[in-house]
Amino acid sequence: MEKNNHIRLSPTGIACYFGCPRKFFYKFIRKIEEKPRPSMVRGRIVHRVLEHFFTFVDLTDIEEGKNWQEVWEKFRKVLFSLLETEWNQIGKLYEDCFSSESQKTSFLNETKEFLNFYAIKLAFSLMSKMRELDKNSQWFEEEIKRFFYPKNMEMKLELEEEDMAGFVDKTMSLFGKGIAIVDYKTSKCPFPHFIPEEHLKQGKAYAFLWNKLFGEMPKHISFYYLRTGESVFYPISERDIEEIKNDIDTIRSKKPVLDEFPKKETRLCDYCDFREFCFKEKPKEEN
Ligand code: SF4
Repeated sequence: MEKNNHIRLSPTGIACYFGCPRKFFYKFIRKIEEKPRPSMVRGRIVHRVLEHFFTFVDLTDIEEGKNWQEVWEKFRKVLFSLLETEWNQIGKLYEDCFSSESQKTSFLNETKEFLNFYAIKLAFSLMSKMRELDKNSQWFEEEIKRFFYPKNMEMKLELEEEDMAGFVDKTMSLFGKGIAIVDYKTSKCPFPHFIPEEHLKQGKAYAFLWNKLFGEMPKHISFYYLRTGESVFYPISERDIEEIKNDIDTIRSKKPVLDEFPKKETRLCDYCDFREFCFKEKPKEEN
């Protein structure tokens, strides 16, 4: 397929194109910046907190038989202390995005709830795993670490020949059965046990990058929704890799002009930062 542009692509960009090609045009071709919104700022903060958590948390004093509530308390303290640091650093940079002091406080309190719930789940699952494994085995410690610690955090995947790159939040080793890619989401999910289409497209694009870079098919992509504490899995197949290849070809076939990126109007237009341009500006043939 003929390449008509050299736009730098990413999993977020491909998901954006899928959501609305016109939005992709404004964001990645015209490079118009979106206004920082409280939810975007919070997303960045939470990603940083979770990235650093696994560097700071120490499992040495956690033994089998320990009450999981004590472990939860320990995790919670680490998460909240990291949150305080990140909130002061990143939050200060974007202070203006909050409409009032009470909105800022309510976002901070809600973020604490997300992280507290994350700490509960993590502590409970760690202690369950400890009970399940044979503590006399020489592999006990190694298996616990493999279960708990990510294989990679915030890993950059870059594919020069496609001019495409993205950061994976976390990968986990699946005990000799390959790897899983994990993507954290702080946004709302419309239904339980459901992956919105844009999230899925983004996840498949991470799997595409992984597959092309390492020649390995990730076993699955999992989305962790911090609001509900729910993890939703999607098993990756060759078909998904092919789908992303076709998406890239479609985007690459477009000339970088407005006419080639049609609008996809949905109720989300009400929250779109490009709405003002979008409903004023007309492609040439409509003029
Ligand atoms: S306002 Fe709607 S149609 Fe226009 S760019 Fe945004 S999402 Fe797309």
